[in-house]
Amino acid sequence: MRSDFLPFSRPAISEAEIAAVAEVLRSGWITTGPQCRAFEQEFQAYCRAAGAVAVNSATAGMHIMLKALGIGPGDEVITPSLTWVSTVNLITLAGATPVFADVDRDTLMVTAATVEPCLSPRTRLIIPVHFAGAALDLDPLHKLAEKAGVPLLEDAAHAAGSEYRGRKIGAAGSAIFSFHPIKNLTCGEGGMILAEDRALLEKLRRLRFHGLGVDAHDRDTQGRAPQAEVLEPGYKYNLTDIAAALGRGQLARLDDFIVRRRRLAERYHERLAEIDELHPLKVPDYPMRHAWHLFIVRLAKAAGVAGREAFMAGLKERNIGTGIHFKAVHEQKFYRETLKIKPGSLPATEWNSARLCSLPLFPEMTFDDVDDVVNAIKEVLA
Ligand SMILES: *Cc1c(COP(=O)(O)O)cnc(C)c1O
Repeated sequence: MRSDFLPFSRPAISEAEIAAVAEVLRSGWITTGPQCRAFEQEFQAYCRAAGAVAVNSATAGMHIMLKALGIGPGDEVITPSLTWVSTVNLITLAGATPVFADVDRDTLMVTAATVEPCLSPRTRLIIPVHFAGAALDLDPLHKLAEKAGVPLLEDAAHAAGSEYRGRKIGAAGSAIFSFHPIKNLTCGEGGMILAEDRALLEKLRRLRFHGLGVDAHDRDTQGRAPQAEVLEPGYKYNLTDIAAALGRGQLARLDDFIVRRRRLAERYHERLAEIDELHPLKVPDYPMRHAWHLFIVRLAKAAGVAGREAFMAGLKERNIGTGIHFKAVHEQKFYRETLKIKPGSLPATEWNSARLCSLPLFPEMTFDDVDDVVNAIKEVLA
């Protein structure tokens, strides 16, 4: 058994990144300024997107996006239940109704076929989730959204650096990224919205910072002109330069991180092939680049939640950390009691929600660490 604890995720922070943050701290300007602007430009260029708006979390980005799109009471928003709770919370807080599309049982992502039956005359937005670093099959989803006349907003919290048919996620349409510490690129807490529509981008920049009017001059100088006026009530979701300096260093290393993650994932696939009880997710067969944000397995034979909990506890006893991404939102107390979705309505979501488990995966892990995880799994399942 290993002597030290292997967490399921650990950010990879370099001395150069620590020095870049220290430089910001010494500079006299620590909130939103030149680092944030440079981070937006570099992330936008990396993804070949039309515009970028940095925010202090993906959740904040989702909030101002729903606001900018005018989502409110009477509206329906389609999203998976197998997602992080923030999206569904914000749909609910906006007064709108979440409508859950089931996922593909082996990729955990919605498809045009699972979204289509959720469409209604009240559907105002579709929020599919790129899962675990894989890319959604976007072409059929775009076609469906266009036919229905409903915009698509990609939850790309797991997809920094992921590609679909040769293009980075976020290169087209609208996508929201997260830089929370477990994500492939972190700046402590942070997020980025990529979008094409210029008017939408302007509105998001306003809503991010009190609803103050911004012009090109403001964006090119530190801070904002003191005479800027409120054009509409906004929020306080700007990203600090302290965080942005870290994000810039991470972005420069993102491709290296992904290579390391991919090698570790390959090692997992090789070693886990020996174990019948565990099913890793399927890697989609359309052209894409997987960013390997998470390595998820499902306990095929274990008796649902109890079996999974025993499995995770057994690994913890052997100094191996694990995570759950995610427990289905419609199975959580508030949504169980308010939405009252009949058990069995989202079969693939529910099957996975009771069985999935994320194994350790982060750039600084070694093959020996992977072997420790696999050996511990064999002991626990024996
Ligand atoms: C992490 C995550 C979010 C929220 O990101 P924050 O930056 O923590 O707000 C949203 N959606 C998914 C799928 C996530 O994994």
